[in-house]
Amino acid sequence: MLQDTIAAISTAAVDGAISIIRMSGDAAIQIVDSLCSIDLTSKKSHTISYGFILDPITKEEIDEVLVSVFRAPKTFTREDIVEINCHGGRYVTKKILQLCLMQGARLAEPGEFTRRAFLNGRIDLTQAEAINDMILADSNESRKLAMHGIRGSVKKLLEPFIKNILDIIANIEVNIDYPEYDDVEMLSNEVILPKIQKWLSQIDQLLERAESGQMMKEGIKTAIIGKPNVGKSSLLNALLEEDKAIVTEIAGTTRDIVEGHIHLGGLTLNLIDTAGIRETEDVVEKIGIERSMKAIEDAQLIILVLDASRPLDEEDQQLMQMTENKTRIIVYNKKDLNQHIKGICISAQHHEIEPLIHEVHRLFDSHKIVIEEPVLANERQISQMMKAKKSMLSAVDAIAMGLELDVVEIDIQEAYTALKEILGEVHREDLLDTLFANFCLGK
Ligand code: GDP
Ligand code: ZN
Repeated sequence: MLQDTIAAISTAAVDGAISIIRMSGDAAIQIVDSLCSIDLTSKKSHTISYGFILDPITKEEIDEVLVSVFRAPKTFTREDIVEINCHGGRYVTKKILQLCLMQGARLAEPGEFTRRAFLNGRIDLTQAEAINDMILADSNESRKLAMHGIRGSVKKLLEPFIKNILDIIANIEVNIDYPEYDDVEMLSNEVILPKIQKWLSQIDQLLERAESGQMMKEGIKTAIIGKPNVGKSSLLNALLEEDKAIVTEIAGTTRDIVEGHIHLGGLTLNLIDTAGIRETEDVVEKIGIERSMKAIEDAQLIILVLDASRPLDEEDQQLMQMTENKTRIIVYNKKDLNQHIKGICISAQHHEIEPLIHEVHRLFDSHKIVIEEPVLANERQISQMMKAKKSMLSAVDAIAMGLELDVVEIDIQEAYTALKEILGEVHREDLLDTLFANFCLGK
């Protein structure tokens, strides 16, 4: 497959000022050469030329274009790349792509350019992921994380951990170097074990920072709960008004709290649907409650809304109990009807919710610092890291059980492989398929 020359429209599929058709592969230069008024074969690498795309049969001028030539190996894919900048109409763009396909290029799959960059060793897998993250970034925080990733900082972050594992493996394999340890047990307990434990504690820090990073990137999973009529929907509307971000997407009706993002000065609340939290005999509504319970469980932040204008009842108490062990903010809404409550008081209806927003920042601003430094960037990387941790924990168990070092080494090797998989240095094609399927066409 790497032999094909691939082509795709790399710009968005809407009418615009300019479109870019990108091609990568051995035949890229020759294919475009056969389609344009410029002699591309003589062009130096990294140059742009002005000319026309011509129908290869009728010689009709199709569009006025700029053609960039990048010759291997100093290119994104490490293959020859040609980019055609044409006028940005959807029709003309597709027409030019079609001509490229007619001349022997194959339509690229989503993410295939990036996949080639990865397979040809230009970037590691975390950098490939970061490229897609940059495209999907919808806040300055997610952009920053993506930028770290593109610069290859996840690899730098992991290198010492990989090195330390190799060091441990080396200790095991050349235990001959430790003449003072005349038995395996001493080598395990005095040399290997402390190294593993140190490694594990550093991994825990890494994972903690990764969770903060995820919160900054994906948003803080937030559930707004409270019994009917306390003002949850009103609060949602007030929060939406606070959202100064370019992107805000809230699905569903305003009656029920639904899923979506709210951006509040560098923090994103990722609302979890908690429609229908109430005591009920109704079967359908019970499903709603179960869903709410689940939402509470999954949430990283609970906003529990109480009605300041009424005494708290059993149902309120129950919700307080249910959320006791969670990071939560209890807000008294309808403060306009009762000024005598101590606590975080808001008036959702009048869009007076500053104390709530202040509290959200107080609780979560510390996580923002994390993104100034490299951090594991996504669920895949985090779950691989947890896998590595699990293997190292079982190595600790094996040592505790007094097992032979070559048994311990199996676990440590597994941890090593798990880390290598993060970078894609060990990879499976089917996993790559899934990963790159999420990419844009032409990327
Ligand atoms: P939900 O069922 O929890 O979503 O509650 P709603 O947002 O639908 O609000 C229930 C009722 O309380 C509506 O009539 C709102 O107008 C009213 N309400 C909401 N917030 C306030 C507030 O801050 N002050 C007052 N006085 N009424 C409010
Ligand atoms: Zn968003």
